[in-house]
Amino acid sequence: MVTTRTGNTVDWVRVRDDFPILASLGSREQRLAFLDSAASSQKPERVIAAVDRYYRETNANIHRGVYDLSERATAQYEAARHMVADFINAASPREIVFVRNTTEAINLVAQTWGRRHISAGDLILVTTMDHHSNLVPWQLLAEEKDARLEAVRITDEGVLDLEHLDELLAQGPRLVAFPHVSNSLGTINPAAEIIRKAHDAGAIVVVDGAQSVPHMPVDVQALDADFLAFSGHKMLGPMGSGVLYGKLSLLEGMPPFMGGGGMIRKVSLTRSTWADVPARFEAGTPSVGDAIGLGVAVEYLQGIGMDTVREHERELTAQALDRLREVPGIRLLGPEDLDDRAGVLSFTLGDIHPHDVAAILNEENVAVRAGHHCCQPLMDRLGVVATTRASFYVYNVDEDVDRLVSGLHRAQAIFAS
Ligand code: PMP
Repeated sequence: MVTTRTGNTVDWVRVRDDFPILASLGSREQRLAFLDSAASSQKPERVIAAVDRYYRETNANIHRGVYDLSERATAQYEAARHMVADFINAASPREIVFVRNTTEAINLVAQTWGRRHISAGDLILVTTMDHHSNLVPWQLLAEEKDARLEAVRITDEGVLDLEHLDELLAQGPRLVAFPHVSNSLGTINPAAEIIRKAHDAGAIVVVDGAQSVPHMPVDVQALDADFLAFSGHKMLGPMGSGVLYGKLSLLEGMPPFMGGGGMIRKVSLTRSTWADVPARFEAGTPSVGDAIGLGVAVEYLQGIGMDTVREHERELTAQALDRLREVPGIRLLGPEDLDDRAGVLSFTLGDIHPHDVAAILNEENVAVRAGHHCCQPLMDRLGVVATTRASFYVYNVDEDVDRLVSGLHRAQAIFAS
């Protein structure tokens, strides 16, 4: 039992045991220490069972089915939308669009709001620490529209240079896109402040919430975010589940992303009119079972409490940072202050290639990621080709930190000899 600073008592080992993949040894001698949740999370039994139950008991295409099964599937799918809306405190479930992942959510905004509102010479702001998913869609749009794209710089510590942001905002950008939390550095950006400043400058704001929504309380109304993109598969939900939140007034003014069934009001051979939001953006048969599974994942996280999730990861990060500093040759990236960083630890270990570090950890069944983490411009800025990255979630426990640290000492010893 561990009591967090928020006063909640949680048995984190029991939480871990809710995840079948972590509770069994599989073919290995040691339990899996899964430290790659920033890429995709594991799924608790409850989510797996919900998806299984959907296919066994409720599977049918949704909307317009006049038989029981279809009505039940529709009701569960729409209930999941309500749960997600509640989770991020959206003003209405109509502001929740189900997509496959963060990437699709951001492309949706770029190809609909962006194509309609961005013109030649307009300025789009991104940041040096953005994931490729929050860079490339804006590059494509800027190229198509002959718009300008500028990136807010970061400091050597890996935090956004807010003075540079102010300078760029003074040029009156039409759109500002930034990550709430960096997937490579763990930096928590001051989202409310950035959004307020961007709004004062007349911009629309797209927040990449892929690394924040799963790990801390996120309230879209308090933030005043125009758009928020996140991935269900990174927050205990099924693969193929993701969300675009958009303010209703903005979504209602946007043309469709993809055309087809489900997103129309009236179709003639030569033209069509569009369904109301959010159906307008959900063309074709959606991933019904995955959305339902995401709703259950949200309930599971709410059962723990997002303040408590954040606190747990903060404690693991504090422990890990303290102990990693003792590993010879380590260079830890990202901010020092625990208030400014989430449970993502990126580092290099002397001149040992990050893939070798990850391979040695894998021998001990410790799963971390190595590479550029889809942040090549950030890697260039940091002067590294790749890093090793360990990331925490609800199912990680102190023992995982121990195994990460001892594995790194071992990697260091192997390469030193
Ligand atoms: N943005 C950030 C900050 C991410 O960490 C990721 C996933 N690594 C993405 C976007 C893309 O997410 P997805 O692959 O689910 O589209």
